[in-house]
Amino acid sequence: MKFLKIILINYLFYKIRTKCMELENDQEVLRFTLICPECGLGNPENAEYCMVCERNLLETVLFFEDDSFDVEITKDCFIEYRKTFWGENRTGKVNKYLLDEMEDMEFGSEITRFRFTYHGKKYVLPLKRENMELLVKILK
Ligand SMILES: [Zn+2]
Repeated sequence: MKFLKIILINYLFYKIRTKCMELENDQEVLRFTLICPECGLGNPENAEYCMVCERNLLETVLFFEDDSFDVEITKDCFIEYRKTFWGENRTGKVNKYLLDEMEDMEFGSEITRFRFTYHGKKYVLPLKRENMELLVKILK
């Protein structure tokens, strides 16, 4: 009799768990994970334009936030949005490099520094490892 009770309880738990999973799957979860490179707002994943600044979000090939700047890559440009020393706010300074004119790109592996030459000048950007991996996928 006791054995039967355990089976019954287990069965009930199993039923409740599957019901919960069904409910979770049914719900359309709207995630605001698409960060607008222009104003930093999180938009729904499938948004075409930013809800606040109306920036075209389809132009962005890659966007990530790093310690001292945010980086956006579009079809033609590598854009660096400078941030304050503490990395919390942007300074308003934006550096834009045309991808076609970036030369000698190097993706440092031990210490993750992205180096390139642009119009004869050398640039070095220190990046977080995970961001460097994203960058390599797009630019290499
Ligand atoms: Zn925006």
